[in-house]
Amino acid sequence: MRLPKLRELGEAIKALIKGPYTVQFPRTPLVPHANFRGMPEFNADRCVGCLACEQVCPADAIAHRDVIEETSPGRKKAKRVLIHYADTCIVCGQCEAACIADHAGIKASKNWDLAFFDRSKAYAQIEKELELCEICGAPVACTDHLEWIGERVGELSYANPTLYLSHYKRLGLFDESVLSSARDQGPADRFKILCARCRRETTQTTPPE
Ligand code: SF4
Ligand code: SF4
Repeated sequence: MRLPKLRELGEAIKALIKGPYTVQFPRTPLVPHANFRGMPEFNADRCVGCLACEQVCPADAIAHRDVIEETSPGRKKAKRVLIHYADTCIVCGQCEAACIADHAGIKASKNWDLAFFDRSKAYAQIEKELELCEICGAPVACTDHLEWIGERVGELSYANPTLYLSHYKRLGLFDESVLSSARDQGPADRFKILCARCRRETTQTTPPE
């Protein structure tokens, strides 16, 4: 019979006194290390719906869907649905690193238990209010994103009607019906919430012949 080496004997005695090195999971809950990076989760209050996280995600684990509904004739309501797919995510942290909302719109959680039996639990989603172009109806940007830009450019936002009108609308300072009745009135179109293409078309000047 081979006698145990002294080092192994020492380890065995130490383990007897100190207890096992491994955790007693699942008998005792596992508390991850403070630096543990788990599955990222959206924070609907902080996210501004800019889609930077979707752009940088190397695994295509973030997607979005713009939903436009006609609430009454000539009136539309829109929202942007941001979706995170846990079954595709490789937990690289790029989304959090790129998040323009102080890295808080999507953040690594401590969630390490990723097994699920129901595939519908493999994704999480949040919704953000979306502004539509008042001429062509195309999505412009999320209301919170326009607000985010306005806060950064300060008084310069008065050079862009989309920014200040979105802000006024948020504050409830104008009646939307006033704008809708003023549609297609030539130069008045400039003072609307517009997508980049309609903004260019309403502001460009015809070159002299
Ligand atoms: S952690 Fe990486 S893979 Fe997962 S959603 Fe973020 S960027 Fe995509
Ligand atoms: S604010 Fe952050 S979480 Fe929200 S869409 Fe932009 S990058 Fe993604």
